[in-house]
Amino acid sequence: MNPQLILLGAPGAGKGTQAARLVSEFDYSHISTGDLLRGEVAKGSELGLRVKAIMDAGDLVDDGIVLELLQANCDLANRAYIFDGFPRNIEQAKALDSQVLKGINAKAVYFEMDLEVLVERISNRRIAPKSGEIYNLVSRRPKTDGICDLSGEELLQRKDDNSDTVRNRMNIFRETNGPVIDYYEGQNALVRLDASEGQDKVFKKLSEVINS
Ligand code: AMP
Repeated sequence: MNPQLILLGAPGAGKGTQAARLVSEFDYSHISTGDLLRGEVAKGSELGLRVKAIMDAGDLVDDGIVLELLQANCDLANRAYIFDGFPRNIEQAKALDSQVLKGINAKAVYFEMDLEVLVERISNRRIAPKSGEIYNLVSRRPKTDGICDLSGEELLQRKDDNSDTVRNRMNIFRETNGPVIDYYEGQNALVRLDASEGQDKVFKKLSEVINS
């Protein structure tokens, strides 16, 4: 089985885009805590109602809630996963080890990128909720404005991709990411990649990490 893969990096660094490609070319399942939480909000579940305002503000949801949701949605004994958006802080990194991975082989990859460039990138991000495709109005335009090339559905902007919320998300990332990186570096389990490079180069590097 491929190693469990933990993608670290600021919002908009390309983790979701690369994860989708890894799923189609390697035998991986993609688990994004942001997607799971948005799913709960869309369903209007009790959990969704509890987290909606927090997510709209770009703040972090309680560690226990996210961990529970993660555990309920993965089967590590039988599948290799790409963890996207988790862990977000050192407490989550430790919980992932002690309560989820429990010694299973995992590698962490840090998508490094200038945060100011990311603010710009995120404001131009548009998503297709059903197909999961991610577009960018500057660098990856759909063939027809506002429409997903694959599914024909209307493209949307995530509610938390507006500029104020993006700034907050970046500030939280700045505050919480350092200890997570140090943690994986301390375990000799971290690979850094330059996320400003083209999607193909980033994908090649990820493929090397998986095969190494
Ligand atoms: P994302 O799609 O990863 O950018 O996440 C969107 C939002 O979901 C974040 O701004 C948080 O409000 C929440 N979220 C996602 N993952 C986590 C996590 N691991 N811990 C806490 N909150 C999270």
